[in-house]
Amino acid sequence: MKRIAIIGGGISGLSAAFTLEQHRRGGVPLQYVLYEASQRLGGVISTEYMDGCVVEAGPDSFLTEKPWAADLCRELGLEDQLIGSNDAGRKTYILLKGRLVPIPDGMMFMVPKRILPVVFSRLFSPLTKFRMAREWFHSPARSDQDESVAEFVERHYGSELVERLADPLLSGVYGGDSSQLSVRAVLPRFAQMEASHGSLGRAVLAARKKIVHASSGPPRPLFTSLKDGMQQMVEVLASRLCAPSIRLGAPVEQLKFKGDGWMVSATGAREPFDSLIIATPAHTAAVILQSVSTELAIELRGIPYTSSITATLGYGHGVRSSLPPGFGFLVPRSEGRRLLAATFVHNKFPHRATEDRVVIRCFYGGSRNEEILQLHEDEILRIVREELRQILGIGAEPLFTRVYKWKAAMAQYAIGHLERLDRIHRLREQLPGLALAGNAYRGIGVPDCVHSGKQAAEQALFAMGLMSSTAVCSEP
Ligand SMILES: Cc1cc2nc3c(=O)[nH]c(=O)nc-3n(C[C@H](O)[C@H](O)[C@H](O)COP(=O)(O)OP(=O)(O)OC[C@H]3O[C@@H](n4cnc5c(N)ncnc54)[C@H](O)[C@@H]3O)c2cc1C
Repeated sequence: MKRIAIIGGGISGLSAAFTLEQHRRGGVPLQYVLYEASQRLGGVISTEYMDGCVVEAGPDSFLTEKPWAADLCRELGLEDQLIGSNDAGRKTYILLKGRLVPIPDGMMFMVPKRILPVVFSRLFSPLTKFRMAREWFHSPARSDQDESVAEFVERHYGSELVERLADPLLSGVYGGDSSQLSVRAVLPRFAQMEASHGSLGRAVLAARKKIVHASSGPPRPLFTSLKDGMQQMVEVLASRLCAPSIRLGAPVEQLKFKGDGWMVSATGAREPFDSLIIATPAHTAAVILQSVSTELAIELRGIPYTSSITATLGYGHGVRSSLPPGFGFLVPRSEGRRLLAATFVHNKFPHRATEDRVVIRCFYGGSRNEEILQLHEDEILRIVREELRQILGIGAEPLFTRVYKWKAAMAQYAIGHLERLDRIHRLREQLPGLALAGNAYRGIGVPDCVHSGKQAAEQALFAMGLMSSTAVCSEP
């Protein structure tokens, strides 16, 4: 009987455990133990219910075009619980000189897919519109050099587009800084488009033509989620695992590699395993691997993380009519505010708020403003309410408020990230049986984490001779 340890019970570790459980039930002779430091599973995925509304502490949904999270939900029997975002009402604003200006229709991240909405948009100056038109003639560029997202976008569309769109999108969603993030790791599709077509505009149009020819049926929603919140996925996943295999309140403190296996130390006890999946943030993986491989620990520690706060406020009757339609807004750095972004939950997922409620979820922290995490919850709420008053004119008392702090939870793929992953891959290969999963490597969203957990489980099975190599992908 082969034994596998999984360290970390967020969605990456749970996905790994579920894959192992499926093989175990299929007759593969294995045992697994999942070590989770806290008293609950799910990591940053956590849902609460307040006043008839669904309040997400961490992720509220996932991108539909990445299939792995929805596939997992289907495998868990949650297909009828999957819901799409209300795309008929999709409109996102950028705060510009204190006013909310809509992102023009038909933008794919920073690439315009339609001309007229951009021409009439108040978001961009005439010079940027001219640069968007000129981008059409950008010639293909082949370079092995990585660069920042800001440099890449600026080369195509100029600095105003970086400041008003690319940077707010990355900081609002991932707490990132476009001048630090790697374009090849964060926006690989756009880097490929540049290599193949030169112009991103032309590449997007060509891809769109292909999709129109290939697709049938109604368009899919941009975001997918679960009716009762993201925690539904965690709860059902946990219920499918072998209960005695789950150790809560069991932070792994140390690892030892013995050539033919691993020794895991947690809460004063040591246990031997044939294989090991580390599904914690990379900075934690670095700490527990320090005595096994200093070089690997250095590489893992080199992956930066940012911290964030989500603050959700629920309002009653009267507030809804005073708010603009749409999913919410993003705040460029130049506005000089602490708020990074806000989601109008009642519009994005209408069934998550009762009809007479308004639910606004605000994002703070990120690379711009880590210090805010030090503030007391009351002080954070004072800042949130003041900024919402100034931006949206909301003076009403909220019916409920919730503040969640996520310390060093969001990996940032800095320039050179892919080269770092190659080095990690080589170092990991020197430690048979070790697999890594999580948001530090090849995708930060929930679907990527689900995928990374599954891949890590398959690598572990392969390392123990319980799975054929053809079925296994060997990243990171
Ligand atoms: C505020 C916020 C909003 C987000 N919004 C979205 C979104 O809308 N859509 C989307 O797709 N993604 C979103 N993300 C990103 C996504 O949710 C995360 O990348 C993903 O959930 C991370 O999962 P994970 O399992 O890799 O890590 P985590 O959830 O961080 O889990 C790691 C687990 O490891 C445990 N652990 C740590 N150290 C040890 C140890 N020594 N021993 C044992 N256990 C340990 C921790 O307690 C934790 O439970 C968001 C993230 C945040 C923080």
